[in-house]
Amino acid sequence: MQEKLVFFRSMSSGFNMFGFILLGLVIARVTPHVWVWVKKKKIIRVYEERHKDFESLICRYNPYFKSLSKAGRERFLRRVLLFMELKKFEYIDIEPEESMPLLVSAAAVQLTFGLEHFLLDYFKTIYILKDKYRYGLYNMPFEGHVSEEGIYLSWTHFIREFNDYSDGQNVGLHEMAHALTYVNFTVQDGRDNAFYNHFNDFSLIARPIFERMQAGETNLLDSYAATNYQEFWAVCIETFFERSTNFRRQLPELYNALCSLLNQDPLTPEKVLVPTPAS
Ligand SMILES: [Zn+2]
Repeated sequence: MQEKLVFFRSMSSGFNMFGFILLGLVIARVTPHVWVWVKKKKIIRVYEERHKDFESLICRYNPYFKSLSKAGRERFLRRVLLFMELKKFEYIDIEPEESMPLLVSAAAVQLTFGLEHFLLDYFKTIYILKDKYRYGLYNMPFEGHVSEEGIYLSWTHFIREFNDYSDGQNVGLHEMAHALTYVNFTVQDGRDNAFYNHFNDFSLIARPIFERMQAGETNLLDSYAATNYQEFWAVCIETFFERSTNFRRQLPELYNALCSLLNQDPLTPEKVLVPTPAS
């Protein structure tokens, strides 16, 4: 009898232990979804109350957003609000303004507008600095960079380069391009499966062009693209959005490869080529 009781007790404490572990796993699995759900609820409210103000602000600086239809703008803005809500913005030597997180989030959403997973999950913090800054042991001052600590942008250059949306220079899109490959290939936290799976197809077209640039060939891409393949990718993104017509005319295969990879064509009114499951 005593033996049976001990056996039962040990079974019972084993079950309790198992139950606690199971509960812990369920909570760990469910909590992020609940968190995002709560944020989405908040965003619905903010959208209803503020969407006109936000739309006019983004329209003033972002020609891509301005060119979207009403439905496209709504989808874009909802993505911006979710992105902005899930990131922490840190301001270094600069007074925060409402336009800062909004326009920086818009740059990320523009790049990922055709992708299902657009939150660049790994990056929890975005640092906004007043102007160019020193980083590490580099001699040249930086306008922006991406590291394991976060995404860094000089606000002066971010806004100046969106204001001149025709020269193929755009630090906001450039750094978001680095962030997108970082979450997909370096840390795999925020991966978009379609982007991840199609990147090799893009590289089959892109690598030979990059190698020819390294050998001295010039084209409409800024010569900085020849620095390394990561910079080639980021410069391609700047040119893809800011000089789309020239890009398609001069390097049509590369332009089309980018359209397929990002599931969007900036030269079409709605941009997105195949609707994504998530809005
Ligand atoms: Zn770069």
